[in-house]
Amino acid sequence: MSDFNYNISRRRFLATAGATALSSVLLKGCLGNPPDDNPIISSANATKISIPPEQVPETTKVRLGYLPIIEAAPLIIAKEKGFFTKYGMSDVEISKQANWGAARDNVKIGSSAGGIDGGQWQMPMPYLISEGIITDNLKIPMYVLLQLNTQGNGIAIAGKHKDKGITLKIDKAKDFFEKTKSEGAKFKAAYTFPKANQEFWIRYWLAANGVDPDTDIELLTVPAAQTVANMKTGTMDAFSTGDPWPYRIVKEKIGFIPALTAEIWKAHPEEYLAMRADWVDKNPKATKAMLKAIMEAQQWCDNFDNRKELVQIVATKNYFGVAPEILEDTMMGKYDMGDGRIINDKSMAPLYWKDAKGNVSYPYQSHDLWFLTESVRWGFLPKDSLGTVKDWIKKVNREDIWREAAKEAGIAVADIPSSTSRGIEEFFDGIKFDPENPQAYLDSLKIKKA
Ligand code: CA
Repeated sequence: MSDFNYNISRRRFLATAGATALSSVLLKGCLGNPPDDNPIISSANATKISIPPEQVPETTKVRLGYLPIIEAAPLIIAKEKGFFTKYGMSDVEISKQANWGAARDNVKIGSSAGGIDGGQWQMPMPYLISEGIITDNLKIPMYVLLQLNTQGNGIAIAGKHKDKGITLKIDKAKDFFEKTKSEGAKFKAAYTFPKANQEFWIRYWLAANGVDPDTDIELLTVPAAQTVANMKTGTMDAFSTGDPWPYRIVKEKIGFIPALTAEIWKAHPEEYLAMRADWVDKNPKATKAMLKAIMEAQQWCDNFDNRKELVQIVATKNYFGVAPEILEDTMMGKYDMGDGRIINDKSMAPLYWKDAKGNVSYPYQSHDLWFLTESVRWGFLPKDSLGTVKDWIKKVNREDIWREAAKEAGIAVADIPSSTSRGIEEFFDGIKFDPENPQAYLDSLKIKKA
């Protein structure tokens, strides 16, 4: 690594360390304290199995990055309930990342240099890393191996905008957005990492409502903790993020939630497990062992009878470091939206194994295609790249490895999708995405750059 790069990384490290300190202060907030390490956690919970000789992993070790949001639950549960150990991966390290940029920098260097081998990602980060787009042109081939969860994210709006008609449909608030634009005080909306899920959700929602996210408002990247602080002081109007943040906004009376991502797109793809390709190629059996453990954790997480314990585990200081009360309701599908609306529906909760459309864990290539098509829509990728991205998907999406692992794990055939495509997807505004014809989707959208 050149001195120049070293200095950048060092500065990044210092900046992110600062952000972590800030977020832990804010996370304590007025909502109680995180539990200490939980005594109920025991790796002995998992049943011991004898691993067939041909499935014994090449290594017992791997370092996986995660962010302290509910998407990470299957990784944490696989570790804490002993599922990794059960499948022969007894030295899995789950490493908290200060933010998405830090995760990217850590996978760029790999675990041999103190970084990570892979872990939790927003889409299409594994593609952008594979192509060197967010890694200073250094291509780090990655494989997408499993979807961690669906739903569990939302749009939060500052409390001062409560009576302006901003709901899932914001037709009534059109004048408000027009006014802020013409007065030169554009509505400011944030996400924690650009050109990935959180930015896509807020862009989709606004554009579906006739608000052009590129010209009518201002979008920017801000660390979650800082966004909350800015919303308190009134300098930020909105942000798009995962639980527990939107819930905190309501509980601390900072704002309200006009839309859950589950309302924008029911059973939408959310975050993924992706690894450095060199690690997977070197350790194919360990990769499958890891997938089997995470699949078992996903089934465990999906059982609502386990969710109280799940919350106790992820809330500990080791992991999220939040009061369990912050997570309990939303994990059961109870959302106080802060605008008088209460949602109480388990099918709207974060889901890890099964959703309204079938299997959650399987990484559909058609979903990767949507994220990449959306990247074309907003000009993040060149407009003629719909053909190119299909080639990327063939290289990066390794649903074949998921299938092999599922078979080894004895997953019921009915739970294994028969196609790499989930078929036509429909959004809350009636727009349809047909993976067979992404251009038709782009053509059907009124607000876009491409
Ligand atoms: Ca998310």
